[in-house]
Amino acid sequence: MPAMKMKALRKVRPESGAEIEMVDVPRARPGEALVRVRAASICGTDLHIYDWDAWSASRMKPPVTFGHEFCGVVEKLGEGVESVRPGDFVSAEMHLACGHCHQCRIGEPHICQNLKIAGIDQDGCFAEFVRLPAGNLWKIDPEIPEHYAAILDPLGNAVHTVLAGEIAGRTVGVTGCGPIGLMAIAVAKACGCSTVFAIEINSHRLALAARMGADHAIQPAEIDPVRRVLELTGGTGVDVLLEMSGNPGAIQQGFQMLRAGGRASLLGIPAKPVTFDLVADIIFKGATVQGIYGRRMFETWVQATALLKGKRLHLEPLFHERLPLERFSEAFEKLKTGGAGKILFYPNGQPQ
Ligand code: NAD
Ligand code: ZN
Repeated sequence: MPAMKMKALRKVRPESGAEIEMVDVPRARPGEALVRVRAASICGTDLHIYDWDAWSASRMKPPVTFGHEFCGVVEKLGEGVESVRPGDFVSAEMHLACGHCHQCRIGEPHICQNLKIAGIDQDGCFAEFVRLPAGNLWKIDPEIPEHYAAILDPLGNAVHTVLAGEIAGRTVGVTGCGPIGLMAIAVAKACGCSTVFAIEINSHRLALAARMGADHAIQPAEIDPVRRVLELTGGTGVDVLLEMSGNPGAIQQGFQMLRAGGRASLLGIPAKPVTFDLVADIIFKGATVQGIYGRRMFETWVQATALLKGKRLHLEPLFHERLPLERFSEAFEKLKTGGAGKILFYPNGQPQ
C-alpha cells in the first residue's frame, strides 16, 4: 500500500528559508509512536535554522522537518509500546538520549554523550505527524490548557534553571527576557523567591517582564544594570543569577550583580567564547556556577506539570498569535523583530 502523505515545513536545502513539502507519513517502528500534531510553537533555535546561521550549517543535514515544541494526540503505536495509547494527549521530550552512555547510565540522560534532538538531527513537529520513541512522550494532565501544553519544552528550560538551586526567599536577577527568561520570572515567583530584577534591552519584552511578575524592570540602554541592582539590594547583589540572554555583555553584568556566595545558572547560549573576570566574579566571590542544558528527564516535566496544575503560572502574556503552517514566513519575520511572543502553528487546522 502506498504511504499516506502529509504536509511538513522543511529545511530542504542548506540555505536560508524553508518550504512546505508533501512527504510520507512516518511509520512507527517498534518502541515508537506516531503523534498527530495539534499545536507547535516556534523556538529561537528554529529562527537560527530558518536563517541557516553558522551553527545550523555545521549541525544539520537537510532535508529535515524542523520544530521541537508541540502537543498532539497519539495516532498509532509501533510494536511493544505499553506506556501510551492511541488518543492520549501528549507533548514530548525532543532530546533523545542513547540510554547506554556513562551519563545515561548514572541517571543524567539530559547530558547524554550521544544526544540527538528531534527537529534538528531528525524530523521534528512542524508537520501533521511526528514519529518519536514512545518513552519520550509526556502525557498531558487534563487540567493543562492546550496552548500551555505546546510550550512545555521551553517552560521546562525555565523550570530546570530556576530549580537548579535554592529559590524560596532569594533575590533573583534575570538577564534576558525572551520567552524563556519571561517564563523563568513567573516560575521563580511561583516558587516563592523574593525580589526579581529583570534586565532586557528590548522595551516590549521588558514591559512583558513586569507583567510576568518582575519587581524591577531594568533597561540597560538607559541605566547601568549592575549599579541599579546593587543600589536596590543595599550593595549586596542578587542571591541568584538566571542568565537567559546568551549576550556576552549581559553575562558579564550578571556576574557583577551576583552577591558573594551566590548561584549563577547559565542557560543562554553565546555565539562565541566569552571572557569575564574569573577572579573577581567567581573565585573571590565563592560563586556556584552551573551550566543548564535542556530539561532533566523527567523530573523537570513533573515539576512543570505541578506548577501548571496548581494554576500558579500565568503565561498568557507570552502568547502572540496562532497561524496555519502555510504562513510560516510571516511567523518567522514577526519573531525576528523581537516584538512577538510565542507564535503557535496548527498543522492540522486551527481551533475556531
Ligand atoms: P531569545 O533570544 O528570545 O531571548 C534572549 C533575550 O536576551 C532577548 O530578548 C534579547 O533582547 C535579550 N538580550 C540580548 N542582549 C541583552 C543584554 N545585553 N542585556 C539584556 N538582555 C539582552 O531566546 P529564548 O528563546 O528566550 O532563549 C534564551 C537563551 O537560552 C538563548 O540564548 C537560547 O539560545 C538559549 N537556550 C538554551 C537552552 C539550553 O538548553 N541551554 C535551551 C533553549 C534556549
Ligand atoms: Zn547517553
